[in-house]
Amino acid sequence: MRDGTADPRRRVPRTDALLADPGLAAAADTFGRDRVKAAVVAAQDRARRGEITPERVRDAALAALRSPAPRAVLNATGVVLHTNLGRAALSAAAVEALVAAAGHTDVELDLATGRRARRGRAALAALAAAVPDARAVHVVNNGAAALVLAATALAAGREIVVSRGELVEIGDGFRLPDLLASTGARLREVGTTNRTTLGDYAAVIGPDTGFVLKVHPSNFVVTGFTSAVGVDRLATLGVPVVADIGSGLLAPDPLLPAEPDATTTLRAGAHLVTASGDKLLGGPQAGLLLGDAALVDRLRRHPLARALRVDKLTLAALAATLHRPDTPTRAALHADAARLRERTERLRDRLAADGCKTEVVPAVAVVGGGGAPGVELESWVLSLPERYARPLRTGAPPVLGRLAHGRLLLDLRCVPADADDVLRAAILRVRVRGDG
Ligand SMILES: *Cc1c(COP(=O)(O)O)cnc(C)c1O
Repeated sequence: MRDGTADPRRRVPRTDALLADPGLAAAADTFGRDRVKAAVVAAQDRARRGEITPERVRDAALAALRSPAPRAVLNATGVVLHTNLGRAALSAAAVEALVAAAGHTDVELDLATGRRARRGRAALAALAAAVPDARAVHVVNNGAAALVLAATALAAGREIVVSRGELVEIGDGFRLPDLLASTGARLREVGTTNRTTLGDYAAVIGPDTGFVLKVHPSNFVVTGFTSAVGVDRLATLGVPVVADIGSGLLAPDPLLPAEPDATTTLRAGAHLVTASGDKLLGGPQAGLLLGDAALVDRLRRHPLARALRVDKLTLAALAATLHRPDTPTRAALHADAARLRERTERLRDRLAADGCKTEVVPAVAVVGGGGAPGVELESWVLSLPERYARPLRTGAPPVLGRLAHGRLLLDLRCVPADADDVLRAAILRVRVRGDG
């Protein structure tokens, strides 16, 4: 397409010619003519936008029919929990569990007695075993659902007392205060953005208080003249304390000293902890609720709980993740920088042997997913010209890096070790095609 002789858009094949192609005609038998035509039109549009060459329109239409979105991508961004890339990548054990659960399962049946059993009891038992300080546990769709259930069941028509420094936006325009207010609970804001004291809370606690909410401001840090009240002191106020820790760390991780964990938070006196399953825990999207048995029971029995119930696939993947916590998330977080460097240099050398010159430079990777904003992970990246970014992103498999100072940086931290050859081939294809 860079031959300069003709406008490539003129060479985009016509719809009727494409529909007569034997491969696409056969696809029409499987998927229906309307879907094939839509795929053809979409591929023609991609060629007109310059995303693919006109010669690739047929194959692109076929590929789109074969693999509907979402597609598996290689995450070379250096962001371990990239929300746009589905946050945590599941472990092999979790993938195996959810494939097994895809058919009929004993999710809600006790095979020994033949009677109905508590739904998802394997996942619940694994969660309880992972956090012995929790007297009871429950699982819902995501972290936001866990908060909504707590607010609805414990504070609808009453007040949730929360510091102004913890009224956060969790991303894509979703704000915790709006989410909580949508349940019919009233927010009683105390303190200021940078400073809140125990006295601020104590002054508003009364018969109308549903609970005190402690939110971990997971995606930003406030520094300077600040003060916040820890869960241990909030627990002296005589009302339930609900702590939204966000990340789903179940026990402390020395790599992430500022990140709260469920065990420590419960020991400090929180009555209920809420967290996500697909952040630092490294599991499927889920909302974890851990804590006081009577409170968890109220949540579990609330009518809304049924609407927030998790799917059998989630329960299977969560159980496996808790059972075997050596997740890709943990591996990526704890990846050794020297080993990453060696691996990246090996990739550079193999590319060089094929005549493709790249560089290896030091870089910083981050946790992402709205977690651990202050943490910088020492990393190494393969640096390529920026023009590689789009063809790699739109290739098969799509490869996502990050752009900085006119370069495309590929961080292998979150790329499975057995995918280095796939990545190398993708880079070489771009170069050979001339897009690079
Ligand atoms: C991520 C996060 C949430 C939202 O959890 P989801 O699982 O994305 O619904 C809520 N609170 C905090 C503190 C978070 O970090």
